[in-house]
Amino acid sequence: MSIAARYWRRMVRAYHLACARDDAAAHGVSAPSGVWVCHVCELPVLRMTTLVRHVRAEHVL
Ligand SMILES: [Zn+2]
Repeated sequence: MSIAARYWRRMVRAYHLACARDDAAAHGVSAPSGVWVCHVCELPVLRMTTLVRHVRAEHVL
């Protein structure tokens, strides 16, 4: 894996930690507390770890 790819993955992870809920709200998706929403396909999941796994599996960079 290149340094750029590694850096990008870290950026994506930081994005999910910080912004996933705000982004969902920006898209008009109501995200009750404890629920995470995928910023790509708006799939709601109950755990952040599940969301990260989903993004890696479904939205591979
Ligand atoms: Zn998704």
